[in-house]
Amino acid sequence: MHADLSITRIGMVLLLALPGAGAAADIGSSEAVSLLDRPMWVLEVSQQAYLMEREPLTFCVDPDWLPFEAIDEAGRYVGMGADFLALMEQRGALELELLITDSWSETLQRARDGDCDFLPLAMATPGREQYLTFSEPYLETPSVLATRSDGPYVRDIAAVTHQPLGIMKDFSFVEIYRQRYPDINLVEVDSYEQGIEGVIEGRLFGLLGNMASIRYAIRESGNGQVKINGRLEGDSRLSVAVRQDKPELLAIFQTLVASISAAERQVIINHWYGQTSGVAAADTQRLSMMWALLVLVSLSIVLLLYWGYRLRLLNRGLEATNQRLTHLNRTDALTGLFNRLHFDDCLAQAMTRAKRNNTRLSVAMIDLDHFKRLNDQYGHAFGDHCLKALSRIMKHMLQRGTEVVARYGGEEFVVLSEGSDAEAFVAQLAHFRREVAASRMCFGGNEAGLSVSIGVYTAIPRLNESAMRFLLKADVALYEAKAEGRNRLVDHSPR
Ligand code: GH3
Ligand code: MG
Ligand code: MG
Repeated sequence: MHADLSITRIGMVLLLALPGAGAAADIGSSEAVSLLDRPMWVLEVSQQAYLMEREPLTFCVDPDWLPFEAIDEAGRYVGMGADFLALMEQRGALELELLITDSWSETLQRARDGDCDFLPLAMATPGREQYLTFSEPYLETPSVLATRSDGPYVRDIAAVTHQPLGIMKDFSFVEIYRQRYPDINLVEVDSYEQGIEGVIEGRLFGLLGNMASIRYAIRESGNGQVKINGRLEGDSRLSVAVRQDKPELLAIFQTLVASISAAERQVIINHWYGQTSGVAAADTQRLSMMWALLVLVSLSIVLLLYWGYRLRLLNRGLEATNQRLTHLNRTDALTGLFNRLHFDDCLAQAMTRAKRNNTRLSVAMIDLDHFKRLNDQYGHAFGDHCLKALSRIMKHMLQRGTEVVARYGGEEFVVLSEGSDAEAFVAQLAHFRREVAASRMCFGGNEAGLSVSIGVYTAIPRLNESAMRFLLKADVALYEAKAEGRNRLVDHSPR
């Protein structure tokens, strides 16, 4: 797995596991996602503030539409949509909650009822636009017609519209084809497999749908008797669909969708097109092996396994509790960032590494300007809100790879970077300072601007230098930033 990505994801899991934070949606992103570019920060501060007030965001999907999307047996969202959503989740630091539905029709109904904030993968149609708004499409697939393998190639769908043509119930093209060919003989089916079956048995002349789904269904249940025999006008253009009364959320998804590069898109598509077949075959093989084993294993062994299982469960429970306690011990309760205890440990270890390898280390101290005044004017709750919002932003702007961000105390934060690219680290800090200065914090009917002062220090630590002394250099730089009038960054690194 890509090192940068895995660390950021661990950070995300910690954030989501905090008391009071929303539950993480189960998105089973495939290994395709681990091949993608490192995460980046794409949302504006005001968009973050909007999300903070409204999270977790709820979403509904088609539970059975691979390779596009599905809900697996463990209740996780999987498929291409899940991979794309995992990218968006990282880049927007989204807290998501999957509302499980039994069918696409139920998903649409729940979207109509306003239960889901968004659908990750849906095509815009005039009917749906009555209650949903759509981002720019980010996934396209041609529309095709599958018929019996011995049937002729269909050049023009108009020539076969009188024949019974299967189409998925509530599929976007039902609406579109009915409009385009008023006399079309569409027969709605509940699944692609059912459609393929209808074609094999001759009840249906053909099955209409997007190429990815039809190819998938043919491989799974076509038995060589069905093939794609026509290419239709109009591609499936899939977007994120957002509730109509949430234009801010649509803007957020537009930004997130736009952040997906062509290369990233290709990795995800290749991954799912490459592995659509064979999944079921492997599953079946695994299942039959399991059956054979079950028959062979005697009752006493089953009992033994059972006790082993009980023990493992107990141990796992203990382990989880320990992990939770360690996590709480090292986490700041208000902001969810690491606390001073954890930071001091990280710094000590990083110092040892840097001395051993003769590499540079960067530390930054960030202090909110005139924060006492802000507390006095708008109240402590407003102050707390600012600390939380800024922490969240820091985490996603500054804790990007090996960096560690922590609340050092009160309104003071520290960042540690071991990367050799100290210049990029300082540039990112400067960017963060400017972003904060340009933003407004809104809470409980009050609104206020904020600024931060930052002191930075990058150097190869001297052999006898303590972590405290090293950090002090950044602290001195911070005081200089305060003395020079605040809202600035002072870098005391030796040139
Ligand atoms: P300066 O620009 O010099 O840093 O001024 P300042 O007012 O930010 O610094 P000072 O050290 O005088 O005050 C820090 C304030 O931070 C005082 C305290 O009320 C506030 N503060 C510290 N921890 C918390 C917290 O957890 N919540 C809130 N709301 N305020 C806090
Ligand atoms: Mg301060
Ligand atoms: Mg302070």
